[in-house]
Amino acid sequence: MIKHDKAIETLRLKGHRLTPQRLIVLSIIASGSEASGGGHMGVDEVYQAAKKAYPYMDIATVYRTLHLFKGLGVVTEVAIGDRLHFELTDPDGHHHHMVCRVCNGAFNLSPHYLAEFRDTLNKEFGFEPDLENFAVSGVCAKCQEAGKAANNEKEIQN
Ligand SMILES: [Zn+2]
Ligand SMILES: [Zn+2]
Repeated sequence: MIKHDKAIETLRLKGHRLTPQRLIVLSIIASGSEASGGGHMGVDEVYQAAKKAYPYMDIATVYRTLHLFKGLGVVTEVAIGDRLHFELTDPDGHHHHMVCRVCNGAFNLSPHYLAEFRDTLNKEFGFEPDLENFAVSGVCAKCQEAGKAANNEKEIQN
């Protein structure tokens, strides 16, 4: 929860009030980015979760709050495919993403996994890749499990 605490501290230092709406949106994004294997959330997912925690939440407030957080550098907007995800800003700099094509979840991939790949492209082709926007598409562990379970059920029924 270090990133989460830091984000709250930033809001406070820059003179922004810690309203319930702001704290809720922040903690939703924090749980999405920090839970092990947790995906990053789109605006609608943030809104749905926020409404559950605070029934008076409206989507305009979610947009406004995300805009404020982005401006303060507390939250980073990640464009993956045709969707925008939000995550707490990574204090260690940039990371890549693995994107599940079943649930649309986006998972962090530390840059060191691609360091060797970058080296190879440099050495073999003299090519400098733009890996900042690199995302690997596939199926996440959870969806693979769900897929297996569904298949097993089918077999039992047959
Ligand atoms: Zn998935
Ligand atoms: Zn990320």
